[in-house]
Amino acid sequence: MKVLVAVKRVVDYNVKVRVKADNSGVDLANVKMSMNPFCEIAVEEAVRLKEKGVVTEIVAVAVGPTAAQEQLRTALALGADRAILVEVADELNSLAVAKTLKAIVDKEQPQLVILGKQAIDSDNNQTGQMLAALTGFAQGTFASKVEVQGDKLNVIREIDGGLQTVSLNLPAVVTTDLRLNEPRYASLPNIMKAKKKPLETVTPDALGVAITSTTKTVKVEAPAARGAGIMVKSVAELVEKLKNEAKVI
Ligand code: AMP
Repeated sequence: MKVLVAVKRVVDYNVKVRVKADNSGVDLANVKMSMNPFCEIAVEEAVRLKEKGVVTEIVAVAVGPTAAQEQLRTALALGADRAILVEVADELNSLAVAKTLKAIVDKEQPQLVILGKQAIDSDNNQTGQMLAALTGFAQGTFASKVEVQGDKLNVIREIDGGLQTVSLNLPAVVTTDLRLNEPRYASLPNIMKAKKKPLETVTPDALGVAITSTTKTVKVEAPAARGAGIMVKSVAELVEKLKNEAKVI
């Protein structure tokens, strides 16, 4: 079984993001970039399925700038066999990414596509669902467990207040939730080996995909600054403040 894993380059989750002075977006100058954490979980799941002997080949795909090669090399170091970068200069909206991934699916014919449930920069939570709609594949979103059983894929989904188990016909699209697995770190020998693994670069034009955006970001604002806290001297003072100042009790 061939698995395609979608990997997005995003601002590292440890970075405290700054909004640009003109409110046009987030300032990315000299900011550490990494693989989206939910995509790390997607790569890990594909690698575990390969280790179980269920999967034979893992192809990592990123849609992004030339620098997204770094995240693809990380995916290769973690266990992907080869990588494809669809090179675009500007950030695409989810539909354009989903259409691009659909073109890769048509070319590669994977039985399973694993994506993160959400990219931590745009917080869209829609690329996997859109890809499932465009391909007509079954979808198991917010997966906390994935198991291949014959020609079916059983997915336990994290839903509000509980878990739901679905059985999907293959080919299928899965999006990863936080508790699916704990991604491994890439070892130094594997980082070295990853440099020699194949990484192909294509353009949306060559794939025949129109990437014109249907949405435009009008404004990005930082959250309002919070006032400093105070230290109270006793529980009585705390209760008094909660009652008379905050008026919450
Ligand atoms: P989103 O719908 O934007 O929150 O992203 C959900 C998931 O879709 C991510 O975790 C990735 O697996 C995939 N994805 C989104 N954008 C890209 C991209 N530019 N390149 C590769 N994968 C992407």
